[in-house]
Amino acid sequence: MEMLNSTDLTRETAIQTAQNEVVLNAAYINGDWVTIEASVTDSNHSNIQALYDPNSGEVIATTRLCTSAHVEQAVEAADEALAGWSQASVSERARYLNAIADSMEQQFDKLVGLSVLNNGKPIEEAKIDVGDAIACYRYYANLITEQATWSKVSTLESGIRLLKTYSPVGICALITPWNFPMVTTSWKLAPALAAGCTVLLKPSEVTLLPELMLGNILSEIGLPKGVVNILPGAAEVGTAMTSHPLIDKVSFTGSNVVGEKVMVQAAKGIKDISLELGGKSAIVVCADADIDYACDLIIGGIFTNAGQICSATSRLVVHQDIAEQLFDTLKVKTESLQIGDGFATETQMGPLVSEQQLNQVKKFFDVATAENLDCLTGGELLEVSGYFVAPTVYTNVPATSQLWMEEVFGPVLVSTTFTNDAEAIRLANDSKFALAATIVSADETAALEMALQIKAGHIWINEQQIVLPEAGWGGFKQSGIGRELGGDGLSAYQKSKHVLLTD
Ligand code: NAD
Repeated sequence: MEMLNSTDLTRETAIQTAQNEVVLNAAYINGDWVTIEASVTDSNHSNIQALYDPNSGEVIATTRLCTSAHVEQAVEAADEALAGWSQASVSERARYLNAIADSMEQQFDKLVGLSVLNNGKPIEEAKIDVGDAIACYRYYANLITEQATWSKVSTLESGIRLLKTYSPVGICALITPWNFPMVTTSWKLAPALAAGCTVLLKPSEVTLLPELMLGNILSEIGLPKGVVNILPGAAEVGTAMTSHPLIDKVSFTGSNVVGEKVMVQAAKGIKDISLELGGKSAIVVCADADIDYACDLIIGGIFTNAGQICSATSRLVVHQDIAEQLFDTLKVKTESLQIGDGFATETQMGPLVSEQQLNQVKKFFDVATAENLDCLTGGELLEVSGYFVAPTVYTNVPATSQLWMEEVFGPVLVSTTFTNDAEAIRLANDSKFALAATIVSADETAALEMALQIKAGHIWINEQQIVLPEAGWGGFKQSGIGRELGGDGLSAYQKSKHVLLTD
């Protein structure tokens, strides 16, 4: 994909976009922006939500959040739209998906700018986020066009034939977190629309600025009313969506704590469910690895997006023979990372997304101190405005440490050493999570053998965390249920139907 020229990416232009183009205090329901009145939430709080610039901690804008009454309106709209959308031809649905991608390409700079402004991520990372989202809409436009209406499963001599077709699962509740706003939404929305489902989308209340732009895009391309409804809301809106009797499918990406609640909420009425949850993924560096390159992969795996990645390779397992040299190089490279404002082109790591996330990482620094962990570098908040912490590496971390076991969701790496492959595999699998892994080795055959034995839904060998739209995404164990992306990602929004007929 050709990226549009990005000369306009400044905080000032992003603030202008936020002020002039993002529709605040409104939900996108039945093809219109519906004003959200000031009110109190179910938990008796004001529904005013401040949106912050993580670089300074200052408020960029305030908006109002939906209540469960908006969920009712949105479900009604999605229900009315379902018959028309599910019966629209696949070429028509594909045309709308490509139109979303075209519009995102035209507004590329604006979407990147809002992502940097509201999430804090460096420009280059935000460009990848938006670029991957565009690729995802196009991928599902192609995939659905290629899917035959009927496929033959078997033909018997008696003349009996078994045919298979797919139906959309129905009305879907899509709930996303804040760490990759545009891309996580596309992984759900693109296959859901391709399959013929109608949707209630609840983006994270923390990063509403880029997500609300999607409403403008859907309006502009003339997507039929009610097919997608966007509800800026917090937990109570998520609860109302996931427990609503007319919702057929819940697809949730977020923390395990909330994932467990969502599973309970969705149990009512036996809803279909996909969960993309946490991770504590391993990066295994073998004795024959190129140390300099391995350090680049380690840094990419834990400091990209300031470590706020579900697939962050936050546990380093390095062969004992190269450990000393590797840690020397890793320390130098980590300490030379450019940390700062996401809008500065030289920035390699930005701030954390919020004060809440800052406190969460600080809590783990305190645990590390209490556990007396060896800190190679970092381990502290940075004394500047905004939500900045130092990129951090702990060495000789025991498997009993909280930092070995729990997801920090920040730029914090824990590490240990191994002496043979069996031990490396055991350590890599020593987690309640099993989302992703990276293996660094000069021996591809040995690395592939290791990949067979490491429990993870996605494994990179000698590569940064590139995620292709045709790959499957999701984990084993407590990292979730189901797969996004690829053919599996489409199946998540379809039900197969078999038809047996005879001559
Ligand atoms: P979170 O669980 O706090 O929130 C996620 C979403 O759930 C938000 O939109 C939130 O408003 C909503 N929500 C909160 N309570 C709810 C409820 N009771 N019912 C329904 N919805 C509710 O997560 P977060 O802090 O936004 O994101 C960080 C977490 O997400 C991390 O644990 C990370 O590992 C995980 N994550 C996983 C993946 C993956 O693909 N596996 C990807 C990104 C993030």
